[in-house]
Amino acid sequence: MGTSRYGVKIRKQETAVLKEKNKRHPCPRCGKPSVKREGHARWVCRSCGREFAGGAYSPQTETGVAARKALSGKKE
Ligand SMILES: [Zn+2]
Repeated sequence: MGTSRYGVKIRKQETAVLKEKNKRHPCPRCGKPSVKREGHARWVCRSCGREFAGGAYSPQTETGVAARKALSGKKE
């Protein structure tokens, strides 16, 4: 588990704190803003469990960009 355990356990508390520097991104598979960076260029969706490689600081996928635009107004 490692870093995953840390994130899940206090996610509610850290959400606000890490919002800026560890922002979640939309999942290219399910579309939910549950994608978190697990390592260098490695991303994991907390919702559907999808793992995928991406940019070092953002998933940078076409679907992700589209989903982010669609969801940005809702979630914030
Ligand atoms: Zn997903």
